[in-house]
Amino acid sequence: MTRFGQFSRRNFMTTAVAAAGSALLPKVLMASPRQDPVVDITQKDGKTVSYEKIPWQVRPFAMKQVRLGEGSCKIAMEADRQYLHSLPPERLLHTFRINAGIASSAQPLGGWEAPDCELRGHYAGGHYLSACALMYASSGDEDLKKNADTVVAGLGNCQAALKSGYLSAFPIEFFDRLRERQRVWAPFYTVHKIMAGLLDMYVYCGNEQALEMVQKMAGWTAGYTGSLSYDHMQRVLGTEYGGMGEVLSNLYAVTGKDYYLEVAQRFDKQQFFDPLAAHRDELKGLHVNTHIPQVIAAARYYELTGESRYREIAEYFWHEVVSERSYCTGGTSNGESWNTDPGKLSTELGPSTTECCCAYNMMKLTRHLFGWSADPRLMDYYERTLFNHRLGTINPEDGTMMYYLPLAAGYWKTFGKPFDSLWCCTGTGSEEYAKLTDTIYFHDADSLYVNLYLDSQLDWSEKGLRFQQETRFPEEQGTTITVSAKNPARLAINLRIPYWAQGGSVKINGAALPAFSSPSSYLTLDRVWKTGDKIELSLPMGLHIHSMPDDETIQAAMYGPLVLAGRFEAVTKDMSYGDYEPKPGDQRKVPDIIADASKPTAWIEPDAKQSLTFQTVGQSQPITLVPLNKVIHERYAVYWKVDNKSA
Ligand SMILES: [Zn+2]
Repeated sequence: MTRFGQFSRRNFMTTAVAAAGSALLPKVLMASPRQDPVVDITQKDGKTVSYEKIPWQVRPFAMKQVRLGEGSCKIAMEADRQYLHSLPPERLLHTFRINAGIASSAQPLGGWEAPDCELRGHYAGGHYLSACALMYASSGDEDLKKNADTVVAGLGNCQAALKSGYLSAFPIEFFDRLRERQRVWAPFYTVHKIMAGLLDMYVYCGNEQALEMVQKMAGWTAGYTGSLSYDHMQRVLGTEYGGMGEVLSNLYAVTGKDYYLEVAQRFDKQQFFDPLAAHRDELKGLHVNTHIPQVIAAARYYELTGESRYREIAEYFWHEVVSERSYCTGGTSNGESWNTDPGKLSTELGPSTTECCCAYNMMKLTRHLFGWSADPRLMDYYERTLFNHRLGTINPEDGTMMYYLPLAAGYWKTFGKPFDSLWCCTGTGSEEYAKLTDTIYFHDADSLYVNLYLDSQLDWSEKGLRFQQETRFPEEQGTTITVSAKNPARLAINLRIPYWAQGGSVKINGAALPAFSSPSSYLTLDRVWKTGDKIELSLPMGLHIHSMPDDETIQAAMYGPLVLAGRFEAVTKDMSYGDYEPKPGDQRKVPDIIADASKPTAWIEPDAKQSLTFQTVGQSQPITLVPLNKVIHERYAVYWKVDNKSA
């Protein structure tokens, strides 16, 4: 039985303490291209500078050093790229221009970007820019960068017209309502997206105007928040504010202006952080995606200030959410909230489980914890969520995204409309599939970490090394990595052995190594590598069961990293588009499963004719199971009610 509970807190904290100790070593800064600000390297006047107190022990490569090869990730990325290309800059700028008193005759977008929606601008001037910037880093798509540069320039005119540094597609009066605690949706949430979009345009595309603009927005934010007492600001933080703390921290990391860090910490919500710092799970009743970004901000405060309290907050939170509040897919939330005490999920199944933004933000948080510790169990979670929640929630045909991924049996997937949904999850999805290159490989000074088995190329130009990873994973149960080296070079290559591996083996240049490594660890191959060296890794998959933590008779079947779904009849096109989720009660009834407690996976067997396809055995009706991420337009079942018969 696979359960997140196997991830013991004691082991985790031991690792954390060891990593914290080594963080006191002097920083080693390596010349590197400009990249993600969380990676603590920025370039100023051609010099490498860092404002991080706690640099990551292991770091990702700049996305432009990694390219995806063929496979599900490339298909998702290309669908996203096609979608981003379909959005005209004039339509994206429309509501910003109207708000700034600049004429616009463009056709307005709909959904959450409609001219009367209080969240307008979050996608058009925010997520869109982040997604284009990330996609440029991942693919080198110059046309997309040009479109995003056009949007930045258009927004620059709006900001100039509005004066005061304020920039939004809605009137500044929304912030009066926020201050007076009158009804308003989420003004700072929206402003965060715009600031992050501009900062990403600077970091990944070198757009200097975007950096000036985001600093003006930060100045406006400093003025607004600085006029409020601490208690008043805490009340303002009762309204969702996204990752304001994170983007202001990143602005400090990029500019070195410590004032931004001070403003960032005005977004610390005391009543949320205090219990986490004391290791108390008081998450019940909270709106999930309001809070994960606040913990990402805490992770950044830890990195930038060295205050260990913030690390406590981030690690305790991550552990509670992953161990006690996540489903087999790695997703969390039901109806957007945590409604129960820890470990109670069996009652939390319905059509609106696991909002996609939550998966996006948990994966983002996971990267920080991994950067501090290189703990392979963090990458087990990352892989679980990538393969089961992120792949399969973008429609490969048109790049539209899902909002919730329903995990109650008998529902189906619903995708947004291209121009008339533009939800929060459209935004985080647009970013997600643009940055699938960012976690496959990490490194430190003299070792490489291969975290994900995805067909890809890595150009470690600083070392004169290139790696070609060829795999059809997960259709293929393993991978092959070929080295090219300018000069023979010594390097420790760490291959992740996932939690689900049922044994495994590795060959170097055709010769099998006598040793292997246990699940949830890295297998280290430390030697001098030369051009043509080839690593062949075999990771056998098997069927296993993931039960609800509080009800072992509610089970999902998995194969290796993949959640399997029973596939039922197709749904119509009308049913597939436009809604956040299917209506409660519209689910198809699915049969209970009869199983043998001593052989919990014996009710499923592989289909001899098709890879990653399974059939039920000995049930009232035959059911075909496939990976959940392959189900797009059919009703499906992930969790089954299982009736255990003793053999
Ligand atoms: Zn969302």
